[in-house]
Amino acid sequence: MATWTKMPAFRFRPRAGALLACLGLALPLPALSFSFLSDFGAPAQAAAAEAARWAAPGGGPVEIPVAVEADLIQRLIPVDLTAAERTRLREAVVDAFRAWESPALRFEVTLDGFDVGSTSPDPLRLFAVETAEFPFPGVTGVAIPVSVFDPARTLTNGMGLPGDRITEAEIYFDIDRFALFAQSFDFGIEAAAAAIQRFFMHEIGHAIGLGHPNSFEFNTNYDTDFDPLNPIVIDPADPFAGLLVSGQRNDQSIMSNRPCGPNVDDVCVALLFTQLTNDDAGGRDVLYPFAVAEPGGLALAAVLCFLARRRR
Ligand SMILES: [Zn+2]
Repeated sequence: MATWTKMPAFRFRPRAGALLACLGLALPLPALSFSFLSDFGAPAQAAAAEAARWAAPGGGPVEIPVAVEADLIQRLIPVDLTAAERTRLREAVVDAFRAWESPALRFEVTLDGFDVGSTSPDPLRLFAVETAEFPFPGVTGVAIPVSVFDPARTLTNGMGLPGDRITEAEIYFDIDRFALFAQSFDFGIEAAAAAIQRFFMHEIGHAIGLGHPNSFEFNTNYDTDFDPLNPIVIDPADPFAGLLVSGQRNDQSIMSNRPCGPNVDDVCVALLFTQLTNDDAGGRDVLYPFAVAEPGGLALAAVLCFLARRRR
């Protein structure tokens, strides 16, 4: 059985304290764009610059090794499943990480990466914990990133920017509450896989530095305009340009903890969404900027290539 002590004392330090425990779908908060987990408020550019994130030494793409506790899915979903169904649910866990990946952010996921009751040296670890040992009553999942101030922090686009760098994170799931959640898995294995993927995606979003865009109390919602549904276009060379504080929120984003309305126990199809919304992706790309090939540039290259061939 997992023990709470394996996480060396909740390291809520004053500055990292802004990295509040990111409680899963069950915080008593009303429930959209994106928000940072470590939120310094307006102005948006300063908040984006200060927001904690993972960073590779010297910059460039971030690849985060992830260790998932042994038998995590079996322990969270204590129902009879066929081997194929069990495999599908395990895939859903990996798919949750894949959904967040971009040219600047990747995960190296190891299922059954460490035994129950132990831990892993990998910086991102996932555990299943029984309710008696779970420190957040009424919460099904929690992500706890730890950060340090790094004067040499370099972003994924190579931009040097001193600030908080996430050094490790742990994600915990309450076994008993998750079992209740699993009771709704009466709609087939694909629905169950989608529900698990969406739930894990939410906690992974916290682990990479995103907050609840729907949570007015703790998080400010950022966008580049006041449309919460359209793509947030990020200039990789200037990823904070155009950011503003917006009150227009997408309640059904992956990072919303009230995707089905004001009551946490409400159920709706949004609990099965497994695609990042534009706002989720925009938040990721502000934290982990990467260059996007310009379609116009590709078209120009194709024309030049065509002309060059004709000249031969
Ligand atoms: Zn959350």
